[in-house]
Amino acid sequence: MCPISNTNRHFNIGFRLTSKNRYSISKLYPLIGGILFKNFNELINNIEHLDVLIYSFMTMQRDNVLEEINKIIQTKKEKELENPILIAGGPHPSGNPKDTINMGFDYVIVGEGEITLPRLINKLKKEKVEERIIIGERVRNLDEYNKIYPMTPIEITRGCPFNCRFCQTPQIFGKDVRHRSIENIVKLVKNMGDLRFITPNAFCYGSKNGLKPNIEKLEHLLRELSKIKRRLFFGTFPSEVRPEFIKKETIELVVKYCDNKYLHFGAQSGSDEMLKYIRRGHTVDDVLNAIDLCVEYNLIPKVDFIFGFPNENEFHRKESIELIKYIIKKNGKVHAHYFMPLPGTYFENSSPTLLDKETLKILGKLSQKGLISGSWGYQYMKC
Ligand code: SF4
Repeated sequence: MCPISNTNRHFNIGFRLTSKNRYSISKLYPLIGGILFKNFNELINNIEHLDVLIYSFMTMQRDNVLEEINKIIQTKKEKELENPILIAGGPHPSGNPKDTINMGFDYVIVGEGEITLPRLINKLKKEKVEERIIIGERVRNLDEYNKIYPMTPIEITRGCPFNCRFCQTPQIFGKDVRHRSIENIVKLVKNMGDLRFITPNAFCYGSKNGLKPNIEKLEHLLRELSKIKRRLFFGTFPSEVRPEFIKKETIELVVKYCDNKYLHFGAQSGSDEMLKYIRRGHTVDDVLNAIDLCVEYNLIPKVDFIFGFPNENEFHRKESIELIKYIIKKNGKVHAHYFMPLPGTYFENSSPTLLDKETLKILGKLSQKGLISGSWGYQYMKC
């Protein structure tokens, strides 16, 4: 049984804030207020004052969150507390809500939280809520959600029409792309230092279906942002672009309006066969073309790779290594990660393929020389 308050009264709300969930919490916190707990001990010391506690986390953080939830449940027992009610959302809870309930949460919001979280809290103030896994209603108009605290990069686009088999984004936010209006973006960034953005693919801004760039809209956005006279970063941290969206027309906009040194995009594999299998929707030639265009326009290509996909063999990996060597030769940067099956994705029940010794040796050497970075070593040890 989950503890449910049934009186209509003020609720004391707590949010667990970490470096990994700032982007999610900063969108929800302004909608309902409460206390942000950066420090877990502080949270435990204040637990008897809380009616509701909200977590948002990714699969990589699951074990740490579980440890905290066990401690919270134990403290509630020791102090004979009915509350706080524990609510979870974010990538892991959305992908595997049953696991999240089994971790000890009372409620899980699957998908987007802006509409559903305040609604759930209002209901909990008044009555018992039986349904514990709740599908989050999707926000239609991002402009209606324009308070962000703590300040993070601004989300300019939500949803992705692509279908990469390893990725949670279309499962959480759907395939329909929704763009924040230029007016709204310009208003929001006024309080920022450097201008940076959150989007599944920066070059899809303004595109109706997100499948190809809308150059006119992109230029309009970047022109307006460049008038703000702050450093403007687009298509680099924390958002990237898809390789086939890197064309003369898009890259020229970055060169004209932005302060980027890098253009960040995902290749994921150097094998066309593997790209097809993981449903990336682009080819190795698209990646090569993107690299060459970056070099031509004096931008450094920063390219992501994933090793250990299900059914990946040493020939696929050899092709990836060849592509990585090409990028290094062009003075580009490479991030290599080890595949992790994420809940809610096509691959959720698949296991990573173990890497052969030769691949590990080559990646290790490149990493030692500082030519590639990423968390593939750590993830390899964990799996
Ligand atoms: S990896 Fe990028 S392009 Fe592919 S589905 Fe995810 S967000 Fe979309």
